[in-house]
Amino acid sequence: MSKEVEVPPISRPDETFIRRAVEEADVNVLRLALYQQTHDPKLANMRVERSLRFGVFAEYSLASGHEGEVREKAIAYLLSGDLNRLEVPSRDETAELMAIFLDRKLSPEEVNFGHEELSFDVHPRDVAWGAKPSPDQLSSFQVVIVGAGISGMAAAVQLARLGIPYRIVDKQKGLGGTWFLNDYPEARVDISTHIYQYKFEKNYPWKSQYASQDELLEYLEHIADKYDVRKHISLETEVTEAKWDPSAKRWNLDIKNSDGSKEVLSANVVISCSGLFTTPKLPDIEGIEQFKGKTVHTTSWDHDFTLADKSVAVIGTGCTGCQMVPGLAPQTDSLTVFQRTPSWITPVPNYKSTTSKELRWLFDSLPGFWNWSVFASYVADAQFQDLQEIDQEWCKNGGTVSERSESLRELLTMYIQSKFVAQPKLAEKCTPSYPPFARRIVIDNGWYDALNRDNVELVTDGIECITEQGIQTKDGVIREFDLIVFSSGFSVSKYLWPVNYEGRDGATPEKLWDKDGARAHLGMTMPGFPNFFTFYGPNGQSRGGGFHSWAEIWSRYVGSLIVQMIETDTQELEVRQEVFDDYNQRMDDAMKGMIWESEGNGGYYVNEQGRSGVNMPWSVHEFYEMVREPKFDDFNWT
Ligand SMILES: Cc1cc2nc3c(=O)[nH]c(=O)nc-3n(C[C@H](O)[C@H](O)[C@H](O)COP(=O)(O)OP(=O)(O)OC[C@H]3O[C@@H](n4cnc5c(N)ncnc54)[C@H](O)[C@@H]3O)c2cc1C
Repeated sequence: MSKEVEVPPISRPDETFIRRAVEEADVNVLRLALYQQTHDPKLANMRVERSLRFGVFAEYSLASGHEGEVREKAIAYLLSGDLNRLEVPSRDETAELMAIFLDRKLSPEEVNFGHEELSFDVHPRDVAWGAKPSPDQLSSFQVVIVGAGISGMAAAVQLARLGIPYRIVDKQKGLGGTWFLNDYPEARVDISTHIYQYKFEKNYPWKSQYASQDELLEYLEHIADKYDVRKHISLETEVTEAKWDPSAKRWNLDIKNSDGSKEVLSANVVISCSGLFTTPKLPDIEGIEQFKGKTVHTTSWDHDFTLADKSVAVIGTGCTGCQMVPGLAPQTDSLTVFQRTPSWITPVPNYKSTTSKELRWLFDSLPGFWNWSVFASYVADAQFQDLQEIDQEWCKNGGTVSERSESLRELLTMYIQSKFVAQPKLAEKCTPSYPPFARRIVIDNGWYDALNRDNVELVTDGIECITEQGIQTKDGVIREFDLIVFSSGFSVSKYLWPVNYEGRDGATPEKLWDKDGARAHLGMTMPGFPNFFTFYGPNGQSRGGGFHSWAEIWSRYVGSLIVQMIETDTQELEVRQEVFDDYNQRMDDAMKGMIWESEGNGGYYVNEQGRSGVNMPWSVHEFYEMVREPKFDDFNWT
């Protein structure tokens, strides 16, 4: 064990409270935190059993007999131990600890990623200067970040640590990106906040394990204040055009301010963190403009509109529609859901439960308990990615996707049937015809229970048109409504749109992506666009791992390149065409083994050209190794 970090002294509650806290804790997480404190060899030599939940997901739980022993040891320690120390393990030490947690050896890639996720280091994905430049050198350098969401803030925190001047511009009225825009009822994250958070921010006191939109926004506001990002953000400031100036070797960005005034910003480097879900999409239905009642897209919810006694239609049953309907239904007179394609929906234990004061105390008091909770979530999440891969052998023998995929499909189908015992027709309507994970899987927020309500109807006949009073389906039936909610998602394939970016020699994204949609090297760089980077760019959605972790990884990648630029006095940095082409060829080859193009029936994962343009075909750890640090030879430096 190497360094020690002081953690604030804690007040110790009574034994009953401590027992309740320990009882609630994940025992394997507890074991590792305790082992780090006590080095009790018995704790390291316990057998971990890999059991299957749903017959599909591995759970790492302690073999029976150990659980009681760990909990008793924890209680004794918490009652009498010195809790004010946290020993920070090295990478090799965390490798050993992770192997104890999983009771198996980890690959070097897993160790690297896992070590960062455990985040014992203050800033686990930091970039360091080789030779720190003078303040004069630094002050003449300017980075513009477009977008103040999770990505933009991660980039900002990294640049600030390096002392590189930056400014964030965002067209919205508030920071937070997605979580500012989407404040429809019931908006909530669908993965544990243990991993849906930055790893440089330790032990944030989340109220719930799956945070609601307002809590997610509060978190980002907290980050902006704590890391002094806020003063660098210009809100209601939109980039409309951006052009590379080859003589100055800088980007000129045309900015529209909230008062309509215009300005030109000049930057050595632009980082576009403009998001995948920023351009709302309306469904292509005839007559939309004729409707005399109220319409709303889920990104522009009207909180003053009362739903009581109203007849409401919801068009779209992806993540947002399914998440929102259970909250809307009880408030309305009637609610009609129009579904084109059903989603696979999975129950999640404790989806809406809040963190008890006992568990909060444990997070605050037992060093390492938060870190191992994060690690446990990361391990659990990484398992989903295999369900997106096609097992060729399995398919040759007549199967679909893979044995695991079929098991999950069977279980989720049984779950649907269990919800509609008396209504098999409704169960049928709710059962997708494609395998799970071919489209975004949805967490059950009470969706099936809502469909069972007397005032809710699920309509699967296609929509013919929208009339002045309501919606007409293809069978000729017209239903009248007071409000139509468009839960129709976003134009995700329109990366960077509607900004006109013009790079070197008149290069534009439209020309570069003309053949089959948006592409970028590692989702981040494009030939013809010097000193320009995109976060959450084309095919940049990884198959696992928390979004914030990836934002930190992209920040490290780009931060390292900027450091190299400044240290070598490079004015212009551009990915080599052959590197871009080779990467995309490899990506297309890898994509053939994935389910999205062949099984997804479209969905937002597949672009207008039928190509899977959002997701990453490689596994979390494969892609991580590609972006862990930049290969300087991939770029032309001038
Ligand atoms: C409703 C919803 C629920 C989601 N739930 C989950 C989930 O449960 N789990 C998960 O992992 N992911 C989820 N996501 C994905 C989510 O988008 C990402 O996790 C993350 O928020 C993206 O962050 P970002 O900073 O890259 O982009 P964003 O959050 O989209 O931020 C981009 C920002 O750029 C600004 N911008 C864009 N263009 C311009 C311009 N020209 N000028 C100025 N500013 C501009 C926008 O105003 C916006 O504020 C969800 C997405 C949505 C829409």
